[in-house]
Amino acid sequence: MNYYGRDELHTAMNTTSEKIALVIGGSRGIGKAIAVRLARSGFSIWLTYHKNHEAASAVKAEIEGLGKSCTIIPFDVANYEETQNALGSLCEQTPPDVVVFNSGISRDNLLVWMTREEWDSVLSTNLDGFYNVMHAVLFPMLRQKRGRIVVISSTSGQIGQSGQVNYSASKAGLIGAVKALAREVGKRNILVNVVAPGLIETDMTSELPKEQILPLIPLARFGMPDDVASVVNFLCCEEHMYIHGQVIGINGGLAI
Ligand code: NDP
Repeated sequence: MNYYGRDELHTAMNTTSEKIALVIGGSRGIGKAIAVRLARSGFSIWLTYHKNHEAASAVKAEIEGLGKSCTIIPFDVANYEETQNALGSLCEQTPPDVVVFNSGISRDNLLVWMTREEWDSVLSTNLDGFYNVMHAVLFPMLRQKRGRIVVISSTSGQIGQSGQVNYSASKAGLIGAVKALAREVGKRNILVNVVAPGLIETDMTSELPKEQILPLIPLARFGMPDDVASVVNFLCCEEHMYIHGQVIGINGGLAI
């Protein structure tokens, strides 16, 4: 199911003069900040989301207010067919210059209590979603012989987090996947990197006990979505770039 009409899809497919950034999960939080930041840097934005049409529409309006175009595309990244239907022909026609894989969920529980559903939903959204999106975008980008891919992992994927065995596994999986992918596509001038945020103020972290966590963070504050967006923007926009297959932590010193 796509939210854009035929005309808008046609326009999206034919905007070849402008650079395009595909932001997966751009309706809220970190993804929203990344989409807006990349629009400020001059990209036209293809913004995907799952179900929150109101939030995605608000980001679209904000980006259009900056004078850039924004096409919003709803689908479930955990669903292979939905992902190919939403992105396949679009990317085939016009390969994006930048892809940011940001969508993700958490379903926290101690492993002894963790349900199969909590395990499966996190792994299928966070890790299978990466495979599903890459399958739609990679061939067209390889043909174009240029591009930047940034994958949003997490400090939890680097050092592990109690109550997040499912989430840590999915985010560590992304790091391994990116390192391998970087070896596969580097020769085609596609630069692939991971950004691993610590605790960032978004819906995902709104219920955490801040006062217990802050003493663990040397910078003594949660990060803001813009703290992540600025690094992603750097990786996507900087012309002279030799960073490839790396994991860049944005965590205020939580993991050193
Ligand atoms: P939010 O919950 O605020 O936003 C999540 C985004 O992902 C939304 O755009 C949402 O769409 C989309 N999304 C979720 N599930 C799916 C799905 N099945 N299919 C398609 N899109 C989906 O998350 P954050 O901004 O906090 O996090 C963004 C990323 O950063 C995630 O990968 C998260 O794991 C990671 N991260 C976050 C940290 C934090 O402290 N906040 C720390 C470390 C990593 P919709 O609006 O439609 O639901």
